Amino acid sequence: MNDSSGQELEARMRELPSIDEILNSQAGAMTSNEIGRERTLGLSRGVLEKVRNEIDPDGRIKPRSELLEVIGSRLEEELETRRRGQISRVINATGVIVHTTLGRAPLSEKAAAAVLKAAGYCNLEFDLQTGKRGQRGAAVESMLAEIADADGALIVNNGAAAALLVLSALAKDGEVIVSRGELVEIGGDFRIPDVLEQSGAVLREVGTTNRTKIADYEKAISVSTRLILRVHPSNYRIIGFTECPNLSELSLLAKKNGLILVEDAGSGALIDLGLFGVMGEPVIVDVFAEGADLVTFSGDKLLGGVQAGLIVGRQDLIETLRKNSLYRALRPAKITYAAIEATLQSYFLGAATDEIPVMRMLALDPAHLKLRSDRVAERIRSGSDNSFSVEVIGGVSAIGGGAGPGIELPTSLIALSHSSLSAKSRVAKLRKNDPPVIVRIEDGRVLIDLRTVAEDEESELVEAILACA
Ligand SMILES: *Cc1c(COP(=O)(O)O)cnc(C)c1O
Repeated sequence: MNDSSGQELEARMRELPSIDEILNSQAGAMTSNEIGRERTLGLSRGVLEKVRNEIDPDGRIKPRSELLEVIGSRLEEELETRRRGQISRVINATGVIVHTTLGRAPLSEKAAAAVLKAAGYCNLEFDLQTGKRGQRGAAVESMLAEIADADGALIVNNGAAAALLVLSALAKDGEVIVSRGELVEIGGDFRIPDVLEQSGAVLREVGTTNRTKIADYEKAISVSTRLILRVHPSNYRIIGFTECPNLSELSLLAKKNGLILVEDAGSGALIDLGLFGVMGEPVIVDVFAEGADLVTFSGDKLLGGVQAGLIVGRQDLIETLRKNSLYRALRPAKITYAAIEATLQSYFLGAATDEIPVMRMLALDPAHLKLRSDRVAERIRSGSDNSFSVEVIGGVSAIGGGAGPGIELPTSLIALSHSSLSAKSRVAKLRKNDPPVIVRIEDGRVLIDLRTVAEDEESELVEAILACA
């Protein structure tokens, strides 16, 4: 920047209204009326800062009065966002079932109702039979143990918390053996070596990225070894020349040497998802039956519940976890127990494929999706002028949430092009719709996958699309 443009920028900055002017403007006064002067001051400073940062050093200077108006309407927008709340329902038209940035699994109707029921006072730690203090989450955890055919179960805040608690309570100051093929990173900030370090246990890597033999595990065992950890690589597959011992072999080795065998199963399939063409997800009952002492998994991936970390396995180990001081920091809120209980009930009562949205979406028949897509496409065509080109094409939906990488569920896609508006600008408009609609873009076309859109959301979806033309 040369001198003269620097001076010009300074001149421009002087055009910015002062905080007092903003507070005394009409918008400022109205905001003050609603939320008080102190909060309005805070909002105004934020808006002013943003407007200052947006000043284009080479752009046209807006006169002060115009800037004051811009700032006024921005202030109203900020206030409106706070009235509405930042978290809003969205229509997920991406076809990604466990969408990490859209809240992962949607709750079942029963789970949502259970959350409401637990919102007020509830018998979280109160035994209604005896009138005495009960164990937090006892009923939910015993149902979880029954479903997994395990002796015990414990619920914490998420899968990461489950891994941290297990390693910290059972292997602190000792060694944990992990195959090099399983030292994975899951979703940016969950890395097995880091969690191990946090827990105070020492990582003992064995084998190679693609091949680890039982003998590699055996050679690594020393007096300091506490635990063998197996990690389901979730979002990642090694294919080709690979080898790893199965759980039963590892279990024998662990028992012979007095070690604990833990499997971090990731997604936590409670039923065999091969039923839906989803291969390679460990089924929890099998993992326990094959000899793992403890299994940990997430509550809001393929299980289809709420964010939670579920731990099942040997009762004595579960009790050790429960007594560990870290558990107090990792135990979930009452609404988590409520949502997990309702979700598990669906599995226990054999109704999961009907009641759990994730299961229903996995099970959707491609012919049915084609039918719905044709119907929605027709509604868009008949509601719009000729600026839209609407086509139904074949495509694939993804599971998401770091589960079943490479698994493609056949689906139908509604492909939308527009004669004058770019896909990018239409996607931005859809995001600003009420409710926001989230879609995919491919080759300059907006793609809608109805797999993740409920049938009763179709009208809102059609309206949103027509409104962005
Ligand atoms: C997702 C995942 C985790 C972390 O679970 P969160 O519930 O996301 O904390 C841990 N381990 C594996 C193998 C996973 O797939």
